[in-house]
Amino acid sequence: MSLHIVQNMNNLAITIIQSNLLWENPEGNLEHFDQLLKEVPSGTDLVLFPETFNTGFPVDPLKFAETPDGPTLNWLRTKAQELHAVVCGTMLLNVDGHYHNSLVWMRPDSSYELYHKRHTFAIGGEKEPIESGTESLIVTLNGWKIKPMVCYDIRFPIWARNQYLDGTFDYDLGIFLANFPSSRIFVWDTLLMARAIENQAYFIGVNRIGDDPEGVHYNGDSQVISPKGEVLANTEPDIEAILSYTLDYEKLQIFRSKFPVGRDWDGAVTQTSQIRLDCHVAPQSSAPRNDGRLSIFSDEYYMRQAFKEAELALKAEEIPIGAVVVCNDKIIARAHNQTEMLNDVTAHAEMLAITAAANALGAKYLDECTLYVTLEPCPMCAGALEHAHIGKVVYAAEDPKNGFSKYGNMLHPKTKLVTGVMKEECLALLTDFFKKKR
Ligand SMILES: [Zn+2]
Repeated sequence: MSLHIVQNMNNLAITIIQSNLLWENPEGNLEHFDQLLKEVPSGTDLVLFPETFNTGFPVDPLKFAETPDGPTLNWLRTKAQELHAVVCGTMLLNVDGHYHNSLVWMRPDSSYELYHKRHTFAIGGEKEPIESGTESLIVTLNGWKIKPMVCYDIRFPIWARNQYLDGTFDYDLGIFLANFPSSRIFVWDTLLMARAIENQAYFIGVNRIGDDPEGVHYNGDSQVISPKGEVLANTEPDIEAILSYTLDYEKLQIFRSKFPVGRDWDGAVTQTSQIRLDCHVAPQSSAPRNDGRLSIFSDEYYMRQAFKEAELALKAEEIPIGAVVVCNDKIIARAHNQTEMLNDVTAHAEMLAITAAANALGAKYLDECTLYVTLEPCPMCAGALEHAHIGKVVYAAEDPKNGFSKYGNMLHPKTKLVTGVMKEECLALLTDFFKKKR
């Protein structure tokens, strides 16, 4: 009998490592995890460790915090490459003299994101010099939006809160990596389930087992919870376990559309102008976003950045046109015209910026993004922007001779268009350039 495995590209295969932790013994823990990771099934997209998997909790940060070029982060880098999966765990990190309990989201290509635990557990000894983080993180993987958090964070529903806007949720999967003692495991079970139900998202809890020298016992109870609050998979208590599970994206979508509680969430926004937080390129703003705000920076601010790119083009004796692409208030791509340098008539600022933005997001559509460019795009670039489903285009100066608008609106019907921002300065740069050429 042949076995047909239907793999939906939108499903997410996760593996939880529920393990004991050796106290204040990073080398020992990494060796132990090396062994455990041999059991990770191939095809896993995401591997999750308990909180402070390299040291146990809490330990002296002055003794055990590593820098981002230290052995544990490098070990995570190697493991992500070997497993072709994102690996995720927390460790004490010293970032430029600031100590955090930092969750590391390490990708197979060695790029990584950090989330510094927001709610440090001072009651349990996690205190100065460890600082609380101020920014939450939403990362993307296989098209999933994922919000990883750490242990004590589970008690803070506003921090974990999902947002809903125009049919889109901020995240699909929430994760807690923890050292949650067995004496309070009822809290862990209850809140994990609550977080899943109230946010209409899958949740995963990863907890350690064993005892620490203070006599605190941990029994594990790692689990995968459905958006309905069902336990989809869990580990046996008090044993080391490798738990793999594939999350079904379609089931999540069906549930959300059949039972659209998100629409009624307090603070749900209906304005279409809000820039949504679903790109993985940068840590997110710390404030719960329920105010339908516009970008924290103005169009002028970003056009100024595009202008700087145009100035770089000028220095390189290229036609001075610059562009930036912005997603979630962050510039994810910068480019300027390079037709001379690349000897390529298609190397317009916009074309280069579109490619760079898609690379930064790991996605070809830029519907969450705004392109700022110092001159009205030509028909070629307008066509590319249409293909990219760009969310918004802002250009400075009109180009009556070569601009796309004389052919009508070539952009995607949903693309918003703003013109005339910093028009004079951008035009002056071009005029000067052509004057000198003559
Ligand atoms: Zn062009």
